[in-house]
Amino acid sequence: MISVAEAVQIVRQHTPKLGIEKVDLPNALGRVLAQDIVADSDLPPFDRSQMDGYAVCAADTTSAPVSLRIVGESAAGKGWRQRMEAGEAVRIMTGAPVPAGADSVQQVELTHELKDGTVVELLAAVEPGKSIVKQGDEIKAGETVLRPGVTINAAMMAVLAAFGYAQVEVSKRPRVAVVATGSELVTVDEQPGQDQIRDSNNYSISAYAELAGSVVHRLPLTRDETSLLKHQIAEAADNFDVVVTSGGVSMGVYDVTKNALKELGAEIFFERVALRPGKPIVFARLPGGALFFGLPGNPVSVSVTFNLFTRTAILAMQGANEPVLKQETVMLARTVKGSMDRESYLPAQLMTNDDGELIAFPLKWGGSSDFVSFALTTALAIIPAGVKSVEAGSLVKAIRLP
Ligand code: AMP
Ligand code: MG
Repeated sequence: MISVAEAVQIVRQHTPKLGIEKVDLPNALGRVLAQDIVADSDLPPFDRSQMDGYAVCAADTTSAPVSLRIVGESAAGKGWRQRMEAGEAVRIMTGAPVPAGADSVQQVELTHELKDGTVVELLAAVEPGKSIVKQGDEIKAGETVLRPGVTINAAMMAVLAAFGYAQVEVSKRPRVAVVATGSELVTVDEQPGQDQIRDSNNYSISAYAELAGSVVHRLPLTRDETSLLKHQIAEAADNFDVVVTSGGVSMGVYDVTKNALKELGAEIFFERVALRPGKPIVFARLPGGALFFGLPGNPVSVSVTFNLFTRTAILAMQGANEPVLKQETVMLARTVKGSMDRESYLPAQLMTNDDGELIAFPLKWGGSSDFVSFALTTALAIIPAGVKSVEAGSLVKAIRLP
């Protein structure tokens, strides 16, 4: 059996990068950036006032209070384009250009306009440079502000807009087909009969896959028959970049997924990982090149194996900088059992205590079928293989679930 780390490495090795497409800016949110974003102007593009107040020469204010003659007004979008002289002031608004000759802005709260608006009294002295952001202080024209591989977030949308990117080059979204296998399964809108359950895996897999940036298509449920499943996978392989099945990968007589793969001539890279839950997990390449993930049937195993392996492939296909979920150090709130031959990924809730420590509360181990409890977990606490138990208060690694 290979380790989780080895399995992740194999997935990354065999995952091809998809191409690039141009999208209109409003559609770029959540996509993986595929080009350098370069500033087409200085920011700010001119010396900009940070305050409403008066642009002045600081030297005129050293013996404040002092009266200065108001010679003009500079507003955002309509600057005052002449040169200001010593003894003068220009009324100025936040975001407006600072006139030539001024070296500081005194905020309006520390001033008092006199007469008919032709004189302002500065109640306090102002330091040179006060409340002015110089042209190019934030960004210089030509600077690269974003690089390929980041997932575009809300704040980045503003950056793209500010530098004129009405269209953005992003990686193509992987097309993912999801197939649930199991003769016991019925769809969400059906009433389960005797010995039947509703398929829930298709919905968690689809949701995780969409969160990772893919376009998902759910195929009809498949019974535990090799020929049916084979047909279903073959058809999906022609139209999708990734095929994800759940169920049918353990050692039972009706676990037909691997038979179907073999008959199809798929190249199987691994079929067992030293992982708890989720030991039986198949990663293969289908004829034609589509990647195949055969996840176990248990809903909790589905979530664990998807987020370790399938999510990694989906993000790597998009050229994401960080396709693997980051590990953090957490403190265990209670003692948990490990496994001698497998690395355990235990569902847990993360919380910070009053001392600022990140604490993991592992769920009572309800087995890999307890997907109702799993719905309340936010993380997986990682217990290395070969460890009998880990005491409450110990530090372990954990990953947050998407
Ligand atoms: P299997 O790996 O096919 O033996 O399935 C293991 C367990 O997961 C069985 O109890 C199945 O009924 C359950 N299971 C399999 N597929 C699904 C599914 N799509 N939705 C919910 N439970 C499932
Ligand atoms: Mg099954």
